[in-house]
Amino acid sequence: MSNEIRVRFAPSPTGYLHVGSLRTALYNYLYARKTCGKFVLRIEDTDRSRYVEGAVENLIETLQAVGLEYDEGPDKGGDFGPYFQSKRTDIYKKYLQELLDKDAAYYCFCTEDDLKKMREEQIANKMDIRYDGRCRNLSKEQIQEKLDQAKPYVIRAKIPDEGEVVFFDIVRERVNIKWETVDDQVLIKSDGYPTYHLANVVDDHLMEITHVIRGEEWLSSVPKHLFLYQALGWKPPKMCHLPLLLNPDKSKLSKRQGDVAVEDFLKKGYLPEALLNFIALLGWHAKGDDELFTMDKLEKEFSLKRISKAGAVFDIEKLNWMNGHYLRNLELGYIAIKAKSCFIEAGFDISDNEKYLKIVDVARNRISTLSEITEAVKPFFIVSTYSEEDQQIINNKNSQKLFTFWLENLKALDFITEDSINQLLKRSTEELGIKGKDLYFPLRLALFGSVHGPELPVIFDILGKNEVINRLQKLVK
Ligand code: GLU
Repeated sequence: MSNEIRVRFAPSPTGYLHVGSLRTALYNYLYARKTCGKFVLRIEDTDRSRYVEGAVENLIETLQAVGLEYDEGPDKGGDFGPYFQSKRTDIYKKYLQELLDKDAAYYCFCTEDDLKKMREEQIANKMDIRYDGRCRNLSKEQIQEKLDQAKPYVIRAKIPDEGEVVFFDIVRERVNIKWETVDDQVLIKSDGYPTYHLANVVDDHLMEITHVIRGEEWLSSVPKHLFLYQALGWKPPKMCHLPLLLNPDKSKLSKRQGDVAVEDFLKKGYLPEALLNFIALLGWHAKGDDELFTMDKLEKEFSLKRISKAGAVFDIEKLNWMNGHYLRNLELGYIAIKAKSCFIEAGFDISDNEKYLKIVDVARNRISTLSEITEAVKPFFIVSTYSEEDQQIINNKNSQKLFTFWLENLKALDFITEDSINQLLKRSTEELGIKGKDLYFPLRLALFGSVHGPELPVIFDILGKNEVINRLQKLVK
């Protein structure tokens, strides 16, 4: 074994990538990059009852969409494959046999019905609900007899009854858990597939994983895993359990309170850069107060030591703010490419690339997600309809004077420049006595469909002389 750091993201494909899983993937990725280690993608798909068609492809696509590239994985290969657990069942069987031989595991022939009764009795007697170990001491002959009768069985771990397990977690530090609270975990189900616990331990060992970085919900499984490591004579990896993600009301982040699927965030127009920056800060913080991190900066500054124990609140307002920041600050051409499908979907003509870039530049200063982009600049493509209130402004005597004045003067110009617009603004005040709101609101209404909006020179530049004249002409009574 080399000294190389090897971490893994080990999702069970459930159909979509949860934002919490994205954080797990991101922290693993960052730790691997920071330490020049390897980041492995392993698909934990042994629960056949939860199999979802297309889930793996979807997961891989989402990781690619946000740019979390792994070094080894199902579609990448590597020296430690296969990277699908469903393709490793023979490997698990071998270690299962070893556990049976070492008396660290046992056959359990209890039926669903037996287990149900056991549970009911335990509830009635106010006892902890757990497997009571009744198959632990079956003799070899009894086991053989039941096997000969082809009775369905599972294999369970023979977890110690007493004492406690103490381990060190990078985030939670010293953790101790009493063995009596740990169930005799099923290792192989009656369908012959291993449970998560067995497959996870075997694979982390065989794939030479050095650090297990995953969500806090798995902390209580560590004793079961450590039991298996010890029984098989293996050194366990270092453990690092990430704090829970919470809704603003401090409840566990759930689908009920909003989106949790990464692909939904992307579809809604959040940029991968913003999403990763935001997710990185859910449970980790840098040395200073910095909140804006490019991936490069994250790769340099990330450390497991700065992960906090306290649950991290998923604050959508903060994500919106961050997304707005990236929309405004990333390369204009990049944002324009990202936004293209929105414009095409809206049926807007963006064939003039120079004009399109100008429009995107205006838009990105006015939105927090890409999905708002076409709405923000719709007036450049479609002449607006006016509310009664707008009509009043348009029909107002001063506004009409203004439109006529501008029409006459614009027609006389060969080119409309920023300078000529400023001149006209000045002259509107000097010659017509119109200024402030009375000057800007009607003009913006006429050209951009709303009293607030981009600066007039920007609107003029994008619409062009002919369209400006058209729009004004229509409103002159
Ligand atoms: N397959 C588990 C999951 O879906 C992986 C947990 C772990 O990383 O050990 O989250």
